[in-house]
Amino acid sequence: MKIMYDVKSERAEEFISDAEIRETMAYAEAHKDDRPLIVSILEKARLCKGLTHREAAVLLASGQQDLTEEMFALARDIKQRFYGNRIVMFAPLYLSNYCVNGCVYCPYHAKNKMIRRRKLTQEEIRREVIALQDMGHKRLALETGEDPRNNPIEYVLESIRTIYGIKHKNGAIRRVNVNIAATTVENYRRLKDAGIGTYILFQETYNRTNYEALHPTGPKSDYAYHTEAMDRAMLGGIDDVGIGVLFGLETYRYDFIGLLMHAEHLEARFGVGPHTISVPRLCPADDIDTADFKNCVPDEVFHKIVAVLRIAVPYTGMIVSTRETPASREKVLELGVSQLSGGSRTSVGGYVHEEEAEENSAQFDVSDRRSLDEVVGWLLDLGYLPSFCTACYREGRTGDRFMSLVKKGQIANCCLPNALLTLKEYLNDYASPATRAKGEAMIARLLETVPGERVRENARRYLKAIEEGGRDFRF
Ligand code: SAM
Repeated sequence: MKIMYDVKSERAEEFISDAEIRETMAYAEAHKDDRPLIVSILEKARLCKGLTHREAAVLLASGQQDLTEEMFALARDIKQRFYGNRIVMFAPLYLSNYCVNGCVYCPYHAKNKMIRRRKLTQEEIRREVIALQDMGHKRLALETGEDPRNNPIEYVLESIRTIYGIKHKNGAIRRVNVNIAATTVENYRRLKDAGIGTYILFQETYNRTNYEALHPTGPKSDYAYHTEAMDRAMLGGIDDVGIGVLFGLETYRYDFIGLLMHAEHLEARFGVGPHTISVPRLCPADDIDTADFKNCVPDEVFHKIVAVLRIAVPYTGMIVSTRETPASREKVLELGVSQLSGGSRTSVGGYVHEEEAEENSAQFDVSDRRSLDEVVGWLLDLGYLPSFCTACYREGRTGDRFMSLVKKGQIANCCLPNALLTLKEYLNDYASPATRAKGEAMIARLLETVPGERVRENARRYLKAIEEGGRDFRF
């Protein structure tokens, strides 16, 4: 298939070409009932080497029930093959809701006088992090609004240093991912030097005209600067980046294609695609009513988006947050999601002061309000293995090193034992008796499936050492 757009271009308009997206949408619509084509795309997908945005768009457009079932079955197979039953756990930490932007879908927008603006001090961050450590979290995603005066990069860097420095009982945050506004190559370099895991930034929408209407004021209104952020992050040395769109802002067909074109662009220019893709759906929030947005994505379509993404980019982790209900999370876990937040608070200071949420300072209304222990117990009931692993990034398995291990199918050799070890730590230190019993049974069952006799023997030894008080063993 001829590529019309310049996939290696450094300019947003070229690697996310509006003309290419529209042409792909028309092509997908024209072929949505073309069974031989769809069957051949599914055949290619079975090789687990991924699909082009064009092929994936045809799968998404197809409305034929039996073929959709085939897509779902393939997504489940691919998920099982690359991720087994492991689900990586994390929590967001909101540092500040000061924001100078005018994003019309976000309650942090500068004109919203109803929410209480807050920015955590380093001491408050310490208390929030200890509350998160006491739940059992090891991996955080930092969130801030964009405000160069209140939340400058120095504040974010200082907060990261604070977080990594907190040792409390057996708790320690071992990986800090960062979701802050688009910034300069130099600032990305400083984030890299501070030891961040993944840099996450959602495109919101790839449709430039719509993007500009949805972001009327503030630095985020610059479409090109925002869209080229991951290129700058990679130039700054960050090799694990997480992309996503906010489904509901634009037609899902447009943004689905944009998302995959963005992934293709990063792979073509830097030799490594995104580490993760997030699939947030627009939620009601303080002064945000989803009824004002005509592109909200219904559940069946959402499930299909997740399944086709799983098929199209088998090596890319997929993240779902507490924006989704437990029922919706259950469905997308099955179809491809590999990372899940649990016990989340989306208000600044919400882990220490739960009433913060009631004060309407939250970024969006959470649809899964269960504690981390409840989520872990639920995952175990469903047959999943909750993992608190952070080993890859700490062992330097990032960017193309990580991807080449995934592509060779070797990552599972580390992931499974690491998941067992970190679940064991969780069960010993934080779990309720019921969750602990379920988790121990899961560990006993899966230990026997760890590939390689030596690794299995070491895993057994480390599990015993954890029982006796040792921590932080990893492969
Ligand atoms: N301020 C940073 C930026 O500008 O990219 C990112 C942090 S923001 C706290 C995280 C994400 O929340 C945004 O990128 C957006 O996609 C999402 N978000 C904003 N309003 C939302 C809403 N009403 N429902 C669901 N998600 C929302």
